[in-house]
Amino acid sequence: VLPQKSIDEVQEDVAKWAQQRREEIEMLKTNEAYRKEFLQNLSHEFKTPIFAIQGYVETLLQGAMEDARLNKKFLQNTARNVERMVNLVNDLDEISRLESGEQRINKTKFVIQEVIREVYQSLYILTNAKNIKATIKKGCEPPLFVYADKEKIKQVLFNLVENAIKYGRYGGHITASFYKTDEAHALIEIGDDGIGIAAEHLPRVFERFYRTDVARSRDIGGTGLGLAICKHIIEAHGQVIHVRSKPDVGTTIGFTLETKKE
Ligand code: ADP
Repeated sequence: VLPQKSIDEVQEDVAKWAQQRREEIEMLKTNEAYRKEFLQNLSHEFKTPIFAIQGYVETLLQGAMEDARLNKKFLQNTARNVERMVNLVNDLDEISRLESGEQRINKTKFVIQEVIREVYQSLYILTNAKNIKATIKKGCEPPLFVYADKEKIKQVLFNLVENAIKYGRYGGHITASFYKTDEAHALIEIGDDGIGIAAEHLPRVFERFYRTDVARSRDIGGTGLGLAICKHIIEAHGQVIHVRSKPDVGTTIGFTLETKKE
C-alpha cells in the first residue's frame, strides 16, 4: 500500500506540474514566434533577388536588349541573382536536413591540419583575389587526430574561412590554429584581421539570417545562414563554438572537437 501524500506534498506536486505547463506554453510561444520570423526572413531573402531579376528581364524586353553593352550587363546581374538564390536553397536544404536529424553525424578519425589545408586550397581563388595570406599555426605537435564527421567539419571550416576572406581586408591575414585543450579535446580557431563585429552584434551572429550589415552581406553573396549551419554541426557533435571580435581589428571563431589518440 502506497503511503498517502500529505496536503502539503500534493500542493507541491500541483505547483510543480503547473510550472512545467507554464514553461511548455512559453516554449511553444517562442517556437511560434521563431517560425514566423523565419518565414518572414525567408520570403524577404527571396524577394530581393526575384525582384531584381524581374527588373532586369523586363528592362531587357522593353528594348535594352538592342544595346549589346546593356544586354551583357543585365544578363550578368541576372546570373548573379540566380546564383544568390541557388546558394540560399542549398543552405536552407542543409539547415533543414540538420534540424530534422535526417543527417546523422558519422564520426571517423582524421588529421585536422589536412582538412584545413584542403579548405585553404578550395578557397585559393578568393584569397588570391584579395591578396590575403592564409597560414596554419600549430598550437600543439602535429598531427592532431580528431574524432568527428569529416565532411561536416570541412564544411564548418569552409564557412569560417570563407567569412574570414569575405569580411577580411585586402592584403590581410587569416590564421587557422589548432590546440589540445585537455587529454580528450581540441580547439580549432579561424582568425582574421578584417572589419570585425561590434559587441552588440556578437551574441546574435549564429542566428539564422542575422547579419551585422545586410546590404554588405548580400552584396558579397552571403545568405546569413553560414554561421547558423556551423553552430548546428558543432552542437550535433556535442561541442561548442564561440566568437570573439573587435571592430576594425578582426574576428576569431573557434570550436572544440573530440581528439583521438593515434
Ligand atoms: P553571411 O552569409 O551573411 O556571411 P553568416 O551566417 O556566415 O552569414 O555570418 C553572419 C554575419 O556575421 C555576417 O553577415 C557578418 O555580419 C558577420 N560575420 C561573420 N563572420 C565574420 C567575420 N569573419 N568578420 C566579420 N563579420 C563576420
